[in-house]
Amino acid sequence: MTTDKKLLFPDKSICMEDGPSYRSVVLVGPPGVGKGTQGKLLSHIPGLFHLSSGDMFRELDEESELGQLFHQYATHGEFVPDDITIKTWEKYIRTKVELNKYNPETDLLVLDGIPRNITQADLLCPYVNILKVLFLVCEDREVMFKRIRGRALKEKRQDDADELVARYRWDLYKRDTEPLIDHYPQELIRIIDADNIPADVLHQILAVIVPLQKRCFSPPNF
Ligand code: ADP
Repeated sequence: MTTDKKLLFPDKSICMEDGPSYRSVVLVGPPGVGKGTQGKLLSHIPGLFHLSSGDMFRELDEESELGQLFHQYATHGEFVPDDITIKTWEKYIRTKVELNKYNPETDLLVLDGIPRNITQADLLCPYVNILKVLFLVCEDREVMFKRIRGRALKEKRQDDADELVARYRWDLYKRDTEPLIDHYPQELIRIIDADNIPADVLHQILAVIVPLQKRCFSPPNF
């Protein structure tokens, strides 16, 4: 039956796969590319559930063991180890479902900051059905560092305040995260030109997300 549907609706086949329940899109981009701004905008749209792994870690109790561990990694610009990250994520999303903040039946999950590398992409596989991967691209590195410096002042983020750490995070992105572009099937990849005003970037993102929402979910309740 599934095969018949695939033949009839080839463009819909990804949504109809059996298996992982969290139907998702992934936002990928280097630090400072404007992913946070877009995430915030997307989080206001009914039928989308925006999950930023950075926010997930920052919400941890600073006094807890995990909170302290995160702090140690983040201040040096390092990633939290993959197994801990995925376990934390899994628990976090289950809580969001239990609290009725995220309904996998009606909401498209927007993953922001996770997966961060190929290992995480593989570890997430049993939980998510990735419908599209949006790569936010800005060729001008210095534009991004300028944004990071602005963010450090505005949001008092320690990991942004240190220029060396910020540059190190950018190198890590290039080394570990950017290869995701070749890891996922090419038909899932969409390039978003992030060297634009936020409304324009949002417009490009919505051009990908809205058709998915219409195709894969019943209309959200307003
Ligand atoms: P940025 O995108 O600016 O690097 P984030 O807010 O996404 O910052 O993440 C802040 C910090 O949280 C990272 O430096 C890292 O320590 C931790 N972190 C966030 N997401 C992940 C992840 N998927 N894997 C490991 N560590 C992560």
